[in-house]
Amino acid sequence: MSELRLNVLTNEWVILAPVRSARPSDLRRELPPAGRAPHDPACPFCVGNEERSIETARVPDGAGGWRTRVVLNKFPALSRDAPAGPVGRVEGSALRVRSDAYGVHEVFVDSPRHDGAPALAPLDDFTTLIACYRDRYRAMVADPRVAHVVIFKNHGEGAGASLGHPHSQLIASPVASRQVLDRVVLFERYLHEHGGCLACAILADELADGARILLTTPHFVAFTPWAALSPFHIWILPRRHASHFGDIADDELADLAGALHRVLRTLHFGLGDPDYNYVIRSGPVCGAGDYHWYLSIVPRIARHAGFEFGSGMYINPTWPDDTARFLRAVEIPPENGAG
Ligand SMILES: [Zn+2]
Ligand SMILES: [Zn+2]
Repeated sequence: MSELRLNVLTNEWVILAPVRSARPSDLRRELPPAGRAPHDPACPFCVGNEERSIETARVPDGAGGWRTRVVLNKFPALSRDAPAGPVGRVEGSALRVRSDAYGVHEVFVDSPRHDGAPALAPLDDFTTLIACYRDRYRAMVADPRVAHVVIFKNHGEGAGASLGHPHSQLIASPVASRQVLDRVVLFERYLHEHGGCLACAILADELADGARILLTTPHFVAFTPWAALSPFHIWILPRRHASHFGDIADDELADLAGALHRVLRTLHFGLGDPDYNYVIRSGPVCGAGDYHWYLSIVPRIARHAGFEFGSGMYINPTWPDDTARFLRAVEIPPENGAG
């Protein structure tokens, strides 16, 4: 029997419509054979080709090389080369509102290894990457023209990755999207009506229920939401209420890296290296109000098509309790046996 659930954090309805053919175990695929070389001389992100891109930051490896580099996207959506005129200018007609494409579009080269993946990277390297995310986030919000910073990863072609070398991205924009501003309003309304934080309340509810919890750490909780929008949709919420990812403390950062690394390893070994996106959902730089930042992970397993496009509603063919139970049972090999 299907059921409609309202995802109160995103204010989106989802139709949970499990079908026999979409039991969690049926959505896994075989782990693809390791076929890529650790170095590709033609790859712009591989060692030896550093001069092909403009570097904005790097984490050295102590031996003349690097562990993580940050470079400007070669085909940036937004750029600091653009003028930085007033945002939302009405010029001539109220029907034509524009802003300059000022901003920053950076690429994190996660690791020197061409054949790496976050799930297979040593935790220490992955923690370095997350620390790099925070450094760049802080660098972006120091620019008063930046209104919102989105950090994300597209893993696999099905998730939009156009280059095989593991990388993540950051876009700092001069406007905050409708989506994040709508969510600020949701938080404000919840505070007004219930006297607390919506995300803190969800966290307490999920912990009390327990059925969808994947893991808990001193500072974070990972779970599949009660109204998960797609199969294996996962949130990692910080226990400490904060609006901006950039405010994360050192011990919280190491904890987040550990939690995310474990979740990605669970997906890798449990579902056979699925394509996925993860996004750090931080509040707008100004006017975040009582927004509570979090990290969302969406494996690209269900194909969203005309109905989702036409309605903004999702159809999830799995029960979140079932996918959480499945993921909790995944056996993860020890790190050095990852292959
Ligand atoms: Zn490469
Ligand atoms: Zn909160």
